[in-house]
Amino acid sequence: MKTLFLTAFLAITIVSCNNKAKETETNATETQAGSNELFACPMHPEVTGKKGEKCSKCGMELTEPVAQGQPAHDSTHDDAAQPTADETAANATSAFSTDEIIANYLKIKNALTKDDANGAATAGKELYKTFNSADASGLTAAQKKEYTDIAGDAKEHAEHIGDNAGKIAHQREHFAILSKDINDLIKLLGSNKKLYQDHCPMYDDGKGAIWISESKEIKNPYYGSKMLTCGSLKKTL
Ligand SMILES: [Zn+2]
Ligand SMILES: [Zn+2]
Repeated sequence: MKTLFLTAFLAITIVSCNNKAKETETNATETQAGSNELFACPMHPEVTGKKGEKCSKCGMELTEPVAQGQPAHDSTHDDAAQPTADETAANATSAFSTDEIIANYLKIKNALTKDDANGAATAGKELYKTFNSADASGLTAAQKKEYTDIAGDAKEHAEHIGDNAGKIAHQREHFAILSKDINDLIKLLGSNKKLYQDHCPMYDDGKGAIWISESKEIKNPYYGSKMLTCGSLKKTL
């Protein structure tokens, strides 16, 4: 008799445990349903996953929304809606200085032209700190929105350059995207320094990449001593 009771009790316990497990499963499925949107690595568009996950190749957070039948994200950035570069630069000179950001970027660039991965890492860390302590409160709402986008991305690339002292090829990958960010930043907020936009046609399997320089002379940060003079001056910023 006692055994029968025990068995019955056990059976009930097992059943209730099963129910609980099922409930948890259902909840999990429900929570996931809301976050089906896909995000890609800013450097490796082929690596996709859910928001907040990390890239399997470089460890960066997957932050780029992947268009799923919707209009592409980038094409919606309409220049017409924003003030012209000249207006913006003039407005911002008193409110926000890009000097320190540009100076640290140029330090990374100059270290890479010398194949100096440690120097690039040190400058990358400085640039990361500069972005962290930059005060954007003086910018207009429109400027601030764009600045926040650019700075958020640039900061991550600066951090990776800082963290990869032993891997100059990886630093250069991040430097290529960082250079685009710095170019956008100068377009948005101007620079007190005369700067040049240079272009290397060979980098990234011939896709090419730009860099920003303080000097007219071509010194290629993507290849350093291997092809120091490869590239051309595109425009004066
Ligand atoms: Zn990286
Ligand atoms: Zn990646």
